[in-house]
Amino acid sequence: MALAIAFLQISIIEIAVAELHLRPWRIVLPAIVGLAGLLLVCAIVAFTVGVIAGLVLGVSVLAILYAIQIYFLGALGSWLSHPSVREIPDGFGVWADVFARLHRWHRASEITQRRLIDNEERFRRTISALPDGIVLVDAALQIEWCNPVAERHLSISLRADQGLRLTNLVRDPRLVAYMTSGRFDADLVFRPLTNPTTVLSLAVIAFEPARSIVITRDITQSERVDAMRRDFVANVSHELRTPLTVIKGFLESFSDAGDELGPIRQHHLRLMDEQAERMHRLIEDLLMLSRLESESPDQEDKIDIVQLIREVADEARTLSGGRHKISVGVTPAGVRGSRDELRSAFGNLVSNAIRYTPEGGTIRIDWVPRPDGAAFQVVDSGIGIAPEHMPRLTERFYRVEKSRSRETGGTGLGLAIVKHVLLRHEGRLDVESEVGRGSTFSAWLPKSRLVPHEGRPDGADDKAENTVENNQDVG
Ligand code: ADP
Repeated sequence: MALAIAFLQISIIEIAVAELHLRPWRIVLPAIVGLAGLLLVCAIVAFTVGVIAGLVLGVSVLAILYAIQIYFLGALGSWLSHPSVREIPDGFGVWADVFARLHRWHRASEITQRRLIDNEERFRRTISALPDGIVLVDAALQIEWCNPVAERHLSISLRADQGLRLTNLVRDPRLVAYMTSGRFDADLVFRPLTNPTTVLSLAVIAFEPARSIVITRDITQSERVDAMRRDFVANVSHELRTPLTVIKGFLESFSDAGDELGPIRQHHLRLMDEQAERMHRLIEDLLMLSRLESESPDQEDKIDIVQLIREVADEARTLSGGRHKISVGVTPAGVRGSRDELRSAFGNLVSNAIRYTPEGGTIRIDWVPRPDGAAFQVVDSGIGIAPEHMPRLTERFYRVEKSRSRETGGTGLGLAIVKHVLLRHEGRLDVESEVGRGSTFSAWLPKSRLVPHEGRPDGADDKAENTVENNQDVG
């Protein structure tokens, strides 16, 4: 009996110590004191009344104690089976302490749980109130959760589509390609097939090794404003083209009669002609930019890079007029894209190198194959660009030195055109520069844009290009 009670006490101690952080001595000490007291009383009874009476008393008290322990253990067991609905029972002796602690622990865990539920609810309400759509997806792009805005944007339903792949639900090929590409440095702008009047921008943020947040934003309004701005610039440029052609025509006819006008009028006429030419270049660049921004890419050509670089290099020599040392290195290659657009982009880089390199400087034009594609590279020994200007170079009308740009016939739109052309060819512009030492501009195109070069089968064409163009110096 004593052993059974000791066993029960040990069970209580284990539970109390593990779950309620009760110190063992708070159970052990009263139990030892109680048993010692009982032994003492039994010994006194045995001594005064008789051994049998002492034993009967001891066994009876132990049996009662055992029954009490069994009762409270049962009460604890039945409370533990349904802790949320049942009241914690009241205890007696050591059980009073156990149940009191259990009560406190239960209250504390209920409060923590309620707080967690409240926090989660508030978090969901906050995310639901955001103007952006949020979709939580796992590594397989299966929807774990989304807010009502995302449901509206992507025509999905959390209740019906939870666990399904987002790319199976939003079947837009551009979205599928974007989501499966794993490259999320730029946002995807698209019109959902289910709602073509809306323009959405979609970004993906990886926030755990196997989870991502997809954020959708309705940019219909800003796209509309942007389109209005583009149309306005395009229309104004277009409208200015005709009167300017007329003015240039008259200026030309005046300069034909130059000798009759006298030196001052001739000087004024030259200035007018220069400014009209500047305006003409500006209008052409603005029209080119608005075409690049609003029209879908031209029909794609197979471009012979050797031929293209030869044209650009010839243009560079004309522009330089022998003031620079120009060398060209070409490896035969083919590119898929718009010939006119790439010709304009490469031409802008080369003309910049000439305009920002003082007389006697060197300019090197190369086609550089790389593991991930190839780059058209222009290296000059010119004035260079300070690091603080680098991030803004491709902005419209951003010039490091306004006067130098104007004097050399710049419009401030050249690099903006280069950037747009490269974007339309999934490429990018890389710039390295040091003030006073020169610059390297690389127009990189991805591998997917490269096509096998169609030279003569014996390769004679290729050799000819290399010997004629490679390292050719034009003084
Ligand atoms: P711009 O018509 O003024 O040359 P761009 O858009 O072509 O306009 O270039 C923007 C600015 O970048 C230029 O005004 C110039 O300050 C700087 N820049 C471009 N290319 C070079 C270069 N090769 N060397 C030094 N500065 C350059």
